[in-house]
Amino acid sequence: AKSRSRGRLVVFAEEMDARYMERQRLKTDLRAAVERGEISVAYQPMFKPDGSALECCEALARWTHPEKGAIAPDIFIQIAEEMGIVSDITRQVIEKACRDCVKWPEHITVSVNLSVQDLRNELIINTVKSVLAETGLASHRLHLEVTESSLIEELSTVRLILEQLRSYGITIAIDDFGTGFSSLSYLDTLPVDVVKIDRSFVRNICEDVRRLKLLRGIVTLSRGLNLQIVVEGVETREQLALLIKHNCADLIQGYVYSMPVAAESIAEISQLASRK
Ligand code: C2E
Ligand code: CA
Ligand code: CA
Ligand code: CA
Repeated sequence: AKSRSRGRLVVFAEEMDARYMERQRLKTDLRAAVERGEISVAYQPMFKPDGSALECCEALARWTHPEKGAIAPDIFIQIAEEMGIVSDITRQVIEKACRDCVKWPEHITVSVNLSVQDLRNELIINTVKSVLAETGLASHRLHLEVTESSLIEELSTVRLILEQLRSYGITIAIDDFGTGFSSLSYLDTLPVDVVKIDRSFVRNICEDVRRLKLLRGIVTLSRGLNLQIVVEGVETREQLALLIKHNCADLIQGYVYSMPVAAESIAEISQLASRK
């Protein structure tokens, strides 16, 4: 029995080794891709609940590995954070997002995700300022998303950065709202305009009335604080109908309306929506 369990341990160790090597390889390749500016961006539209207008697009980072194909951003963003190079990705995404947004109809805004690491120092402020100047995008067309969980960072620094960015006219959104387990009292003290309610609060609203009640509670709270409400991860017609019935959303983002698409498709999708 002893030798058998040792055998298993060897297999286990080999697997760990392989996984470690694989991750090292991804690190090397990601660094090279970032240096060469190969991170691309897909855009997922947010619509008025009735689908009659495309108002904003979330910029989502994409990386296609030469051999492994598309790597999920959840994975490569985490790797970039471990390597301390995520701010380089942020900069590339902001640049591309602003360049693309200036070509879209003027009412459309673009929303870029910030990493927790972007909130640790004031570099991000200069990045945003210089990209806006370079691209000529009006600052009110740029939104920045900060995850609720990243607000556990030193709050005074976060507040300073967000206040500065907002003073330029940029809109600040709290992403994955409801999943960060942070105290709700911070919401009132931070310069925030939008909450994006996490898709985990939408998943079972049609089957489980308690989930709907929970979602409605979050909506009431957010409205009480004068925040705009984006509901994420809406996948079905039934979910959409329920959200509309209970007036739970100002904007809808999810597969029910659109997957993330290329920048070139946004103008056309916007036109189709406006004909509804
Ligand atoms: P997120 O910021 O919450 O972005 C929304 C994610 O939900 C996207 O996944 C989007 O494709 C997906 N999604 C949209 N609608 C639906 C739906 O109806 N159902 C389901 N199941 N999923 C939906 P994606 O593009 O794979 O991105 C995953 C995460 O990676 C993002 O979550 C964000 O945390 C991170 N990420 C992506 N791009 C960036 C970036 O440029 N910078 C940073 N720091 N993080 C990024
Ligand atoms: Ca986001
Ligand atoms: Ca989100
Ligand atoms: Ca997320």
